[in-house]
Amino acid sequence: MDLAEKLEILADSAKYDVACTSSGVERPGRAGQLGSCRAPGICHAFTPDGRCVSLLKVLLTNCCSYDCSYCVNRRTQQRPRASFDPRELAELTIGFYRRNYIEGLFLSSAVAGSPDATMERMIETLRILRQEYRFRGYIHAKAIPGADPLLVERLGLLADRLSVNIELPSEASLNRLAPDKGKAAILRPMGQIARQSAASRRDLAVYRHAPAFAPAGQSTQMIIGATPETDRHILRLSESLYKKYALKRVFYSAYLPVVADERLPALSVQPPLLREHRLYQADWLLRYYHFSAEELLSPEQPNFDPYLDPKCSWALANPEYFPVEVNTAPRPVLLRVPGIGPKSALRIVQARRSQRLGMPELKRMGVVLKRAQYFITCSGRAPALRAARQEVAAALIDPKAFGVGVRQLSLDDFCAVPLPDSAPRVQALAAAGVEARRAAEQTRREAIECLTRRM
Ligand code: SF4
Repeated sequence: MDLAEKLEILADSAKYDVACTSSGVERPGRAGQLGSCRAPGICHAFTPDGRCVSLLKVLLTNCCSYDCSYCVNRRTQQRPRASFDPRELAELTIGFYRRNYIEGLFLSSAVAGSPDATMERMIETLRILRQEYRFRGYIHAKAIPGADPLLVERLGLLADRLSVNIELPSEASLNRLAPDKGKAAILRPMGQIARQSAASRRDLAVYRHAPAFAPAGQSTQMIIGATPETDRHILRLSESLYKKYALKRVFYSAYLPVVADERLPALSVQPPLLREHRLYQADWLLRYYHFSAEELLSPEQPNFDPYLDPKCSWALANPEYFPVEVNTAPRPVLLRVPGIGPKSALRIVQARRSQRLGMPELKRMGVVLKRAQYFITCSGRAPALRAARQEVAAALIDPKAFGVGVRQLSLDDFCAVPLPDSAPRVQALAAAGVEARRAAEQTRREAIECLTRRM
């Protein structure tokens, strides 16, 4: 099998792993060495400055000894198999880097034989890159659950970011769908990475040339929608992972049915992209807005509203918290207002030292007044506190849930279709034969009526 075929197979096998956005490392190029690493991030992603960066995202092998039921690479699945030799992959990475195709490497692997044997080959690949080619670009590597701690340590000394995929949101689901993996085997390396990363940061603060262990930290990925856990369960799990293991990111991956298995959703089921989006929004609230999972969802309401973003949902469920006076409220209180984000909250706090703020000033600071106006006062004046409930519902409802796109059937024939991340109700109506725009409009009307009644 030639290199191009291997690359096609192994890059295709890696595409289901979403935990590859990178950030946190700033490493300039150096004479006699190769590559550099910029803090905003490397990967198939858009950085905050709008730059699109690329990463070679590939598996070392897709010949897996395990049989996780949700995975295309599982042992019992019939599909083309391939493996890279460590040197072959290192040379391929360098070749791509020199041609300016990529800025770094995201290296994962199926479990070929045993976790230790697989990790040895991953480490050898990174060793060749770092020590023989003196490559200073970004490397994100997956640690294989169950591997020896010494191997995890060696991998962490070569990679910028490590991740161990938690895969499923509960131990019961893991035992049912991924019987070769265990909760302890996944959490143990996470704990080790957290400890060694912290120790390495402390050493680096004292000794400039101390070896850096996974300087960009660690992340994980969780599959959403393959198992019955609620959003509340998932969010509480993420919260505890952030606290216990100092994770940089938890990635949520809407389950895309790729294998027929009676324990999993049918192949015809659409991936729950809107649910994935809500979880990312809530995750953002945990990390940057000081919300807790318990505040956002309750045992009585364990799943997010498909039509409202989690912050608006929380604000409507907690009317006693509002209105918030923008000229006096502390920053954590401002952060709870729909339409006010961390940057605009900071700008408000800074600007009001020298002036009283009104609506025009808030608008200039980036506050989304369309939502914020129902929850704030400016020097005692309430811009829209007396608005009709239906108007408020229409302003707060999330347009993303009613997205409609266009599919081109032939050169001059186009048809409207619900976007993949529109609400399940829109998808269902369209599947039942209702024209996509009418399906979206009907669902929007129903959602506004329902929300108005609840307010
Ligand atoms: S260990 Fe499981 S999830 Fe990973 S490649 Fe093998 S079958 Fe897939």
